[in-house]
Amino acid sequence: MVREGSSSLTREVLLQMALRISLVVIIISGLSYQHILSTLYDQEFDSLDKYIVERGDKESAIFELAEDNHQVFREHFVEAYKQNKTISNDQFWSIFEPWKDGTTHLQKKAFTGYYRPEGLFSHGTTAYIGPDAPIEQQEFRNRLYLAYQLVDRYSDAWTNRFANVYVSMFENVNIVHWPGLPWADNAESTLDVTTEEWVYITSMENNPSRESVWTGLYFDPTANEWMVSCETPVDLEGKNLLNVGHDILLNKLFERVFNDHLTGAHNFIIRKDGRLIAHPEKEQELRANLGMLDILTHGDDELLDMFNQIKTEVINTNLESKVLDNSKGNAFLAVSKITGPDWFFVTVYPKELLTSAAKEAAKFIFLLGVISLVVELLMLYLLINKKILNPLDLFRIAITRIDMREYSSVAQGNTPLPEDNDNEIGKLARTLRTMAQSIEQYSSEMELQNEHLELEVRNRTQELEKAKNRAEKQARIDELTQIPNRRYFNEVVKKQLADAKRNQTPIAWCIIDIDFFKKVNDRYGHASGDIALKTIARVLHDSLRESDLLARIGGEEFIISFPNTTLEECWILVDRVSQAISNTVIKAEEYEFSLTVSAGISGGIVGQYGYQQLYSSADRALYLSKEGGRNKVSSEPMRERLT
Ligand code: GH3
Ligand code: MG
Ligand code: MG
Repeated sequence: MVREGSSSLTREVLLQMALRISLVVIIISGLSYQHILSTLYDQEFDSLDKYIVERGDKESAIFELAEDNHQVFREHFVEAYKQNKTISNDQFWSIFEPWKDGTTHLQKKAFTGYYRPEGLFSHGTTAYIGPDAPIEQQEFRNRLYLAYQLVDRYSDAWTNRFANVYVSMFENVNIVHWPGLPWADNAESTLDVTTEEWVYITSMENNPSRESVWTGLYFDPTANEWMVSCETPVDLEGKNLLNVGHDILLNKLFERVFNDHLTGAHNFIIRKDGRLIAHPEKEQELRANLGMLDILTHGDDELLDMFNQIKTEVINTNLESKVLDNSKGNAFLAVSKITGPDWFFVTVYPKELLTSAAKEAAKFIFLLGVISLVVELLMLYLLINKKILNPLDLFRIAITRIDMREYSSVAQGNTPLPEDNDNEIGKLARTLRTMAQSIEQYSSEMELQNEHLELEVRNRTQELEKAKNRAEKQARIDELTQIPNRRYFNEVVKKQLADAKRNQTPIAWCIIDIDFFKKVNDRYGHASGDIALKTIARVLHDSLRESDLLARIGGEEFIISFPNTTLEECWILVDRVSQAISNTVIKAEEYEFSLTVSAGISGGIVGQYGYQQLYSSADRALYLSKEGGRNKVSSEPMRERLT
C-alpha cells in the first residue's frame, strides 16, 4: 500500500520534471534555431561577400584585359604616329589593293598568310576602306599602314583570348584580324561602318570621356555566339585617329553564369540600365529578342524588385560589390560590378537553404534534448528510489513496529533505519531511533509501576476479602457463644430442607430453652450467666454430629436441625444431649452450679415439612415441656404434627 503511494510520488515528480525539462528543451531548441540562423546569416553574408568579390574579379578579367589591350595599342600607335613616318606609294600598295567597286582592301595574302620582310608570318587580317575614303592623302595612308602594322603585331597574341582585334576609322575603314573569317572582304561596297554601333559609340559626341566604351549585347548568328564589343578611341590633339576594338565571345561566360553557382543558388547578369544580359531561365527569350530584354518592361515582378534594390543600393551608390537582403524574394543578393560593360553579376542565394540547415541543427539539438530528458528522468527515478523511497520504506517498517509496540526492535537497532545518511533523512532516522528508545524506557517504567499497583490492589483486595469474611462471619456467628446465630441457621437450613424434600429423607428439629435462667442472672450475676450460656453452647456443640445444625436463636434458646433423622432418633439424641447438659457442672467465677434444659422436637419420617411447620411444631412442643415441668423433651401428638 505504501509502495503504491510511493510510486505515485515518483510518477508525480517524474511527470513534473518531464514537463519542465521539455519546456526547457523546446525553448533551447527555439533559441538555438534563432541563434544558428542568425549566425548562418552572418556567415553566409560574409562568405557571399567574399565570393561575389572574387566572382566579380573573375568575370571582369576578360573585360579588363580588353581595355588593357586597347591602352597598349593606343599608346603604341600614338607614339609611332607622332614620328610621322611617310609611307611610300610602293610600300602602301605592296599591302593594299584597290577593288573594282571603288573600295580598297588588304591584299589576299594578309589573310591567307605571308612572310614579312622582317621574317615574321602575317595572316588572318582583312580590311575594308570605303569608296569615299581619302585614299590619296599621305597622312591617311600613313595611318592605315601603321594601323595594319600594329593589328598584325598584336593579333596573334590577342586572338588567343578574344574573337578578334580590329581598327575602325570614321573615314569608313575597318581593318579586322579574325582568324578564319575574312570579314572585311565579305563586306558590301555600300557598307558605312560609321553607322555601326561599334563605331558610332566612340564618336566625340557619344563618348566625350574618350575612354573605352562597350556596345550592347548581341547575338551573332554567323558565329552562333553571344557577343559584346569593346571600343577605345585613339586620339591625338583632339583629333580622332582611329578606334581599336575587340569582340568578346560570351558563350563561355554565360555557361559559367548558368552552371558555376553555389549549391542551391543561381546567377544572372544585368546591365545598369535594366537590360537583362544573362539569366538561366530566360536564355531562349534573350536569344529570340537578340539580347534585348528589358527588366523594367518584361513583367517579371520578382526580377524587377531585385533590380530596383540593386539599382538603389549598388548602382546608384557606385559600389563595386555588395550583399543585399532581398526580403520579397526571401534571398540574399550578392552583387558585383563587372568592370567594363557596366554589367552586374548577381548571385541569388535563397535563405531557405540556411533556414533548413538551422532547422536541421535545431532538430538535432531537440533530439539531444529529448535523449537527455530520458536519461535525466531515468537517473532521477533511480535517485528517488535510492535516496527517498528506500529510506521511506525503512521508516514505514520501523513506524509499523512501533505501532505494534515492538519498541525494542527499533530502539536497539534491530530494525534498520537510514541513520548513516548525512542529510535530513539521516537526522529524521536518528530522531526516530531516539524516540523509540524514549518510548521503550517510558513503557518499561510504566510496566514496573503497573506491577506495583497490581500488587497493591491484590493486597488491598485480600484485606477487604478478609474483612468481608470477618463481617460475614460476624453476621452469622453469635458473638457470645461462637456458634451460628439464627440468620446462619436460616440460610443453611434451606439447603437441608431442599435435600430432604428432593431425597424424601426424614428431618427433625429441636428447640431448647434453658430452664429458669433468669434466676442464674439474678443469683450469680450477668457475667456468670454469660459463662453459663457459653458452657451449655459448648456442650451442645460437642454432643452433636457433624451434619447437625446448631444455632442460638434467642437469649437462652437454641435450635438444632437433624438432617436424615427421624423424630424418634431425634428424641433419643436430644434426650442424650439434655442429660449431658444437666450433668455438666458450670463453673462461673466463684460459683459452681448445673442447669437443665427443656426441649421441643418436631419432624417426620419423610422430609415433607416446611420451615414454618417444623419451627411452630417444635416451639409448641417446647411449651409442652415447660408446661410439663421442665427438664424434658416433648413433641406434639401425631395428629397435630401433621397439620
Ligand atoms: P423458664 O424458662 O424456665 O420459664 O424460666 P426463665 O427464668 O428461664 O424465664 P425467661 O425465659 O423469661 O427468662 C430468661 C432470662 O434469661 C431473662 C434474661 O435476664 C436472661 N438472659 C437472656 N439473655 C441473657 C444473656 O445473654 N446473658 C445473661 N446473663 N442472661 C440472659
Ligand atoms: Mg426463654
Ligand atoms: Mg428459660
